Amino acid sequence: MAGPPPSGSLLPEGLLEIMQCPRCGGALTERATPPSLLCGACRLAYPVAAGGIPVMLDDAAVPLDD
Ligand SMILES: [Zn+2]
Repeated sequence: MAGPPPSGSLLPEGLLEIMQCPRCGGALTERATPPSLLCGACRLAYPVAAGGIPVMLDDAAVPLDD
């Protein structure tokens, strides 16, 4: 059953579990602001477009700088 995502979740339920980093194949974590998926191994943030569509492109990835 596909319901609305829980509050605070960017992606439809279950999608995050099957997403992986296009560079290293590792697991991703959500960040709410700005909406993005983070790969801790690559230190990259992939943007999430309106509607919960992740943009898993090298060109779109932003380096994490914290
Ligand atoms: Zn990665």
